[in-house]
Order: sequence, then C-alpha cells, then structure tokens
Amino acid sequence: MKQLTIVGAGWAGLAAAVKATQAGWHVQLFEAANTPGGRARSLQQNFAGKPLDNGQHILIGAYRDTLNLMRTVGLHPDELLHRLPLDLKYADGQGLSLPDWPAPLNLLEGIRSAQGWSLKDKFSLIRAAWGWQRAKFECDHAWTVAQLCQTSEVSPRVTSQLIEPLCLSALNTPMHEASAKVFLRVLRDALVGGAGSSDLLAPRVDLGALLPDACLQWLSTHGAEIHLGHRVSALQIEELERNASPVLLACPPWEAARLTANIAPQWADQCTALTHTAIATVYLQCKDAGFTGLSQPMVALHSGPTAPAQFVFDKDALSAQKGLLAAVVSACATARDELTAQVHAQVIEQLGLSNLEIVQTIVEKRATLACTPMLDRPSPSVAVDIWACGDYICGPYPSTLEGAVRSGQQVVAQLSQVAHG
Ligand SMILES: Cc1cc2nc3c(=O)[nH]c(=O)nc-3n(C[C@H](O)[C@H](O)[C@H](O)COP(=O)(O)OP(=O)(O)OC[C@H]3O[C@@H](n4cnc5c(N)ncnc54)[C@H](O)[C@@H]3O)c2cc1C
Repeated sequence: MKQLTIVGAGWAGLAAAVKATQAGWHVQLFEAANTPGGRARSLQQNFAGKPLDNGQHILIGAYRDTLNLMRTVGLHPDELLHRLPLDLKYADGQGLSLPDWPAPLNLLEGIRSAQGWSLKDKFSLIRAAWGWQRAKFECDHAWTVAQLCQTSEVSPRVTSQLIEPLCLSALNTPMHEASAKVFLRVLRDALVGGAGSSDLLAPRVDLGALLPDACLQWLSTHGAEIHLGHRVSALQIEELERNASPVLLACPPWEAARLTANIAPQWADQCTALTHTAIATVYLQCKDAGFTGLSQPMVALHSGPTAPAQFVFDKDALSAQKGLLAAVVSACATARDELTAQVHAQVIEQLGLSNLEIVQTIVEKRATLACTPMLDRPSPSVAVDIWACGDYICGPYPSTLEGAVRSGQQVVAQLSQVAHG
C-alpha cells in the first residue's frame, strides 16, 4: 500500500487525510498539539460544562466541500449548524437582512426592506450588484475592495454598514487593503451559488465536535495511523525526502517554511514573505436579571476606532452556554487589555446591557493571510514528493475553513495523479 505522511491535523490536513485514505493511501498523520483542529479547535477551558473555542467561527452555505466532508465522516451539518438567512442587522434595527427566498429575489427584498438606508443607498447597491453580476464577478486584479466600491459608486452608508463588515469577516483584511478579486469570488459563490449559499451557518457545538474529532474517529476506523502531540522536525522531512516517501505539509506557512528551508529554499521564502492579520474573540457573560438573549444569534455592531468588534454571537441561543456572548474583532490591531476594555464598553452601549463580565479574550495574531491584491501564494507542489496544503496555498478562496478543506482535497487529487502517472 502507498504510504503518505501528513504533517498537521488542522482542517486542511484532516480533509487531505480523509481523501487520501479514500483514494487507497496508507496515511500517517502527525499533529504537534494534543488535539486536532489547528486554528479552528476547541480549547481546554470550559464554560457551562462546554469547551470554549479558539475563536468564534462562522461558515456560509457556499462552503460545500466542508459540509460534504462533515457528511463523509458521519456528521449531520443540519444538526450541528444553526442556519440563518444572511443577516447583517445591528441592534438598533439598521442594516440588511435577507428573507429565506430564492436568489436573487432574497437580495432584492433584503435591499428594499433594509432599515436606515435611503432610496439612494438602496439603488447604489442594486446598481453595483447588477454591474458585478454582469461582469461575472471579475474585476481588475490590482483593485482593493475600497476601489471596487468607489468605482461601482456604492454609497458611503452601504459601504460602511454592509461591504466593510462583509469584507472584514470574509477576508479578515480592511477594505482599503483587501483584494476586490477575492471578495467578488466569495460574493459570487454566496449570491449565485444556488439555494442557501448565502446563509450563515453558526456552530451549535464546539469546534472539535464540528469536524476534527469525527475526522480522527473516521480515520482510525479506516486504518490511518494518528500521532497526536508529535511535532515533526525538518530532519524527519529531509529523511523522508531522501527515501522518496511522499510528504504532505498541512502546517501553517511559517512552519512549512522552517521544515523546507534546506529542501526548497525559494518556496520557503515565498511562505515567509506572506503577512498575516489577527482575529480576537472576547467572551463576555451577561448577568443582567431578566436577560433572555439577543434578538438573533448573531448581531452586527457599529464599529470604529474605539469600538473594534464587528459582530456579537449569542452562545446561549447557539450552544446553551447561559448568558455567554462572543464578540469578534476581525483584522484586529489593538493590544489585548485595551481591546478587551473597548469591546466590553461597546457591547454594553450598543446592546443596552449593564452587568457584563469579561470571561476571556483570545487573540490569534496570525489568524489568516492578509488577503491583499495580487498576492503571490505558494503552490502546492514544493519539491519531488513534497507537497503542501492549507488556507494559504494558491487558490481562489481567502484563508477560511473552506479554503483549507478544498486545498487539502485538491492536493491529494494532484499527488494521486502523479503517483499513478
Ligand atoms: C480566531 C479565528 C477566527 C476565524 N474565523 C473564521 C470563520 O469564521 N470562518 C472561516 O471560514 N475561517 C475562519 N478562520 C480561519 C480558519 O480557522 C483557518 O483558515 C483554518 O482553520 C486553517 O486551517 P489549516 O488546516 O490550513 O491550518 P491550521 O489550522 O493552522 O492547521 C495546521 C496544523 O499543523 C500543526 N502543526 C504545525 N507544525 C507542525 C509540525 N511540525 N508537526 C506536526 N504538526 C504541526 C498545527 O498544530 C495545526 O494543528 C478563523 C481563524 C481564527 C484564528
């Protein structure tokens, strides 16, 4: 049986391991941590008897490969994810909320009924969306999202209340730096990708239970060897390379660069040149008497220089963690203590709460790639018999769960072809 060594059990490595096992490889999966999931993992800390996550995550209906992978390993996405039609409503009722109708009627009705937007705002969005669709969601590759909005004449209110938070949550990059090409690709998949593609899917369970734990279970019952708590060294990779034994690096780019510095220095340099942006999640507990939860599981927050969070999630409604709120700060650039104090004040003010305790702040400094225009992302082929996958590898998607899963699955298809050819 053909042997494949996979380094890293994040969502990319797990997707690759399942696909490779299905394709007849004997997989050895090494993970440095004691739990799988990488950046999208559950932590040891509990709240109300359930693990906290390494950061609040959200999926969309267009994440087809991730949802299919869940089914492959025996999970039921409809039970594990709370499905909401795209809703970017603020606590004061302003903003866009799509009804559960087929596209494009859902978008038209959402825009028609958007609260706090003038007729001019609404027409600016309809005209821009129509133009993007006519251009097949393609644009100048050098444009930022801010340039796209300017060129498409999206009104300032729609830009700040809709495009900016969408861009931050999808690309984790501020709109004046973010790639318009990648943004339009995500919009295309969400808006014209078929029924339910633009729906937001918020986990009802912790991130471990959402996919990684079931993948490990599936892999061990299908004959893969799993080594948790085992950090692979550069020497081991070099030895595997000498023995012409295929290796798939499913670790983050900085680690992949370290492991391949002697084997593929140019490829390693390309990884090292990538820049990253942070995401912070501030977990808060509302102790107000009579607090029965937010108006919906996810509420948009008006953000600005001293109000950094873009969204807040009601973890009681999602995962029965009483009074727990998770406020998310994408493209976060503020120091932890200052950030925590700002988010605490912001949530109190915008949601009209009073007794709010800070539970924990988690800052992932290298949460995702900074998704800028013309980004030179590394190829999955590193050297003979050395391959790589992950959310940073060359592909149409930004650094996301779906980007990681697709990259893992695609590289296995490629390396299987080479092995058979
Ligand atoms: C706070 C936060 C919020 C996010 N929110 C969202 C969201 O809402 N929606 C979304 O789609 N995406 C979101 N993302 C992005 C998403 O989590 C990542 O894109 C995805 O998890 C990356 O998966 P990966 O497998 O490519 O890499 P990783 O998750 O980084 O996995 C790499 C694995 O390799 C292991 N490893 C490293 N070195 C070695 C070694 N030498 N030997 C063995 N193992 C090694 C690591 O321990 C890790 O488990 C978010 C990320 C963060 C951090």
